[in-house]
Amino acid sequence: MACQSPISPGISWYEDNVAERPEYPALGGSTETDVAIIGGGFTGLQAAYNLAKNDVRVTLIEACRFGDGASGRNGGQLGSGQRWWPEEAEASLGYDRSKALFDMAENAKRYLLDFADDHGIDIDYTPGQLSVCHKKGLEKYYRANGEIAASRYNYPHISFMDGKETAERLGSTHYLFGVRDTGTGHIQPMKLLVGLARQAQAAGAAIHEKTKALKIDRQGGKIVIETTHGTIRTERALIACNAYIGNLEPVTANHVMPIRSFIGATRPLDDFPDVIPGNESVADSRFVVRYFRRLKNGRLLFGGREAYTADNPRDISDHIRRQIAEIYPQLAEIEMTHSWGGSVGITLPRQPFVREVMPGVTSIGGYSGHGVMLSNYCGKLYADLVRGDRTELELYRDLNIAGFPGGPRLRTPLLFLALSWYALRDKF
Ligand SMILES: Cc1cc2nc3c(=O)[nH]c(=O)nc-3n(C[C@H](O)[C@H](O)[C@H](O)COP(=O)(O)OP(=O)(O)OC[C@H]3O[C@@H](n4cnc5c(N)ncnc54)[C@H](O)[C@@H]3O)c2cc1C
Repeated sequence: MACQSPISPGISWYEDNVAERPEYPALGGSTETDVAIIGGGFTGLQAAYNLAKNDVRVTLIEACRFGDGASGRNGGQLGSGQRWWPEEAEASLGYDRSKALFDMAENAKRYLLDFADDHGIDIDYTPGQLSVCHKKGLEKYYRANGEIAASRYNYPHISFMDGKETAERLGSTHYLFGVRDTGTGHIQPMKLLVGLARQAQAAGAAIHEKTKALKIDRQGGKIVIETTHGTIRTERALIACNAYIGNLEPVTANHVMPIRSFIGATRPLDDFPDVIPGNESVADSRFVVRYFRRLKNGRLLFGGREAYTADNPRDISDHIRRQIAEIYPQLAEIEMTHSWGGSVGITLPRQPFVREVMPGVTSIGGYSGHGVMLSNYCGKLYADLVRGDRTELELYRDLNIAGFPGGPRLRTPLLFLALSWYALRDKF
C-alpha cells in the first residue's frame, strides 16, 4: 500500500498488479556511510545499486515506499533521445552537443533494457511508439523528423505517418499525422522499481523506506542529514527527490517544479480491437501532453490531465474518461477501474537538472516527463561520478539550466499563469 499522500493520490494499476512489493525497514537510528542517497525512485535506487555493486558503502532513505514517487506511477513510455527533438536541441546547442545528448539517451535506453534482462526482471516491455499531432502547421517538422534522425543521429527507426496510417494505427481520426518509432517501447514501471530495489539490497546497499530527510547541513567536514529516524553522517550525498523535493534544499526546489499529472486505466478492451491494434504507446503534440497505451491485458492506460496547483480533481476517472472520449467516442461510457496521480519534475528549459548544490552534495532530477529511461541512467552515472568518471553526467551539468523566476514565494503562481497560457494554446 502506498503512503497516502495528497501529491500522489490513488492506487495505481501498477501497484495493484505487481506480484510482490517487499517492504524495507526504516532507518534504525544514527549511522555513518560513504554516500547517502535521499529518494527511492529510479534515480536514487540505481545510484545505490551501482555504488554498492562496486563496494561503496551506501545508505538510501525514502520518505514513503519505493515507487510512491513518479517512478512507480508514470505512463511507462521510454521514448527516444531527450525530451527535445534532436533538431530542436541542435538549434540552440549546436550539432556536437545535441548528438552527444541524443547518444546518451540511447545509452540510457539500452542500459534500462539490459539491466532488466540481466537480472531477470520482467518489465512487460512492448515495442513501438507513436507521436501524433493535432496541429496542421507542424506537418513539415514531423515529415523531417525521421529523415534527420536517420541521417544525422544514426537512428533509422522513425517514419512519417500520414492521416490514413495514423488513423489506422490509433483506431481514431482525432489526429492529423504523426511519426512511428520502432526503436523504443513501453514498460510496467513498478515491476522495474521492485526488481531494482531488490537488486540494490542484494548488492549490499542499506535501503530504507518511511524515513524522511528533514535537513542537510555540513558539520566538521562531514555532510549531516537529519531524518525522522536518526542522523546520517556521510562524505557525499545525492538528492534524488525530483518533484517531491519540498523545502528540503532550496537550489533544487528553485529549479525543479512539480506538475501533477493524472492517469486512469479502463477495464480490458477485448471488445474494441481497433484501439491501437499494434500496441504501440502514444504521446501527442499538446503542451499538456496526452499519453496512452494498451496494457498487456488489453486495458487502455490514459494520462493527460495536469494540475499546477496543490489540489486534486474531485474525480480523476471522470476527467480522464472525458479526455479518452475526445479521441475514442466509442469509449465515452467505459468503466475506469483505476485512477491516480503523481508529480512530474519539470525544469524551465525541460532538460534535466544536475548540479552540486553544496560541497559534496549533488542534486539530480527534473527530467520533465521524459525520465523513465533517463532517471535510471542518471542514477548509474552518479555512481560513475563518485568513482571518478564524470563524462556523461557533465553533459547535463554543462546545460547549466536557469531556475524559475520569482524565488520560492512567486514561482508557483508565475508558473501557473505561464503554463495555463500554454495549455490554452492547445485548444487552438
Ligand atoms: C503521472 C506521471 C506520468 C509520467 N509518465 C512518464 C512517461 O510515460 N515516460 C517518461 O519517460 N517519464 C514519465 N514520467 C516521469 C518519470 O516518471 C520520472 O522522470 C522519473 O520516474 C523520475 O525518477 P526519480 O527517481 O528522479 O524521482 P521519483 O520517482 O519521483 O522519486 C523521488 C522520491 O524521493 C522521495 N523523497 C522526496 N523527498 C524526500 C525526503 N525529504 N526524504 C526522503 N525521500 C524523499 C519521494 O517520496 C520519491 O519517492 C511521468 C511522471 C508522472 C508523475
